[in-house]
Amino acid sequence: MSLDAFLEPAAADLLDGVTDAALKQKLLTVVERLQQAAADYGDGLTFANSLGAEDALLTGLMAEYQPDIQQFVLDTGRLPEETLTLLDRVRQKWPQIRLQVYYPDAAQLQGWVSEQGVNAFYRSEALRKACCGVRKLEPLRRALAGRAAWITGLRREQSVTRDQLQYSERDAANGLQKLSPLFDWSEAEVWAALRALKLPYNRLHDQGYPSIGCAPCTRAVNPGDDPRSGRWWWENPENRECGLHKR
Ligand code: SF4
Repeated sequence: MSLDAFLEPAAADLLDGVTDAALKQKLLTVVERLQQAAADYGDGLTFANSLGAEDALLTGLMAEYQPDIQQFVLDTGRLPEETLTLLDRVRQKWPQIRLQVYYPDAAQLQGWVSEQGVNAFYRSEALRKACCGVRKLEPLRRALAGRAAWITGLRREQSVTRDQLQYSERDAANGLQKLSPLFDWSEAEVWAALRALKLPYNRLHDQGYPSIGCAPCTRAVNPGDDPRSGRWWWENPENRECGLHKR
C-alpha cells in the first residue's frame, strides 16, 4: 500500500509545518512504519512510552496519525518530577491516545525495599539490576503479556549496546517482535522534528539530560559526551541497560 493511501488530511496538516524536505521524508517513513505496524498487529501491538525525546516524537505522530495504538508508561516510583509533568501534559493534550501506566507490584516492592533499602542500586551492579527487575521488568512483563509486538524509541547511535539495532527484530527475551521506527535517526534529527512539530518534551532535556530514567540513576552530561553516559554512570558502559532491551 502506498503512503498516500495511509495518510489522512489531518496528518498532512501536521507535517506541513516541516520545511526541511529530507526531515519531512523521514517523518513520513516513520508514519508509514507506525501505520503498517498497526495494520499488521492490531491490538497485539503496544508502544513502550519512556517519555524521552524519541518517544515524545513517536507520541505526537501516533496521536495525530494512529491514536488507536495502545501505549504504556512504566512508573517505577523513582521518576523525576519533570517526567511525571510531561506524562500529565501528554494525557491532557491528546485524550484520544490509549495510554496505561504500570506500577511495580506493591508487595514485591515492599519486600525489596525492606530487605535492601531504597538506594541499594548504588552498592553493586547486581543490586542495581535487581532494583530494575522489581521496578521495571516485572511491570514490563505485565504490559507485554499477550502482545505480538512492541514499539520502542530506540536508536542505533544511542549507545554501544544498540549499534546493531534493526527496525524490526525478534525480542527473544520477551517473546515478541520489537519495532524501532527511529532506529536509523540521529539525535539531531529527533530534535529538529520535535521543534518543527512543536511537540511537548521533558524539560530535563534542556538541562543537559539527553537520556532520562529514574531520578537517582540519571544525571546531566557535558555537551558532546555519550548521551547514555548519564545513566548508571558508576557502571561500565557495556552494562548500562536496565534489562528492558536485552540483545
Ligand atoms: S533505574 Fe535505578 S531506581 Fe530505577 S529501577 Fe533501575 S536501579 Fe531502580
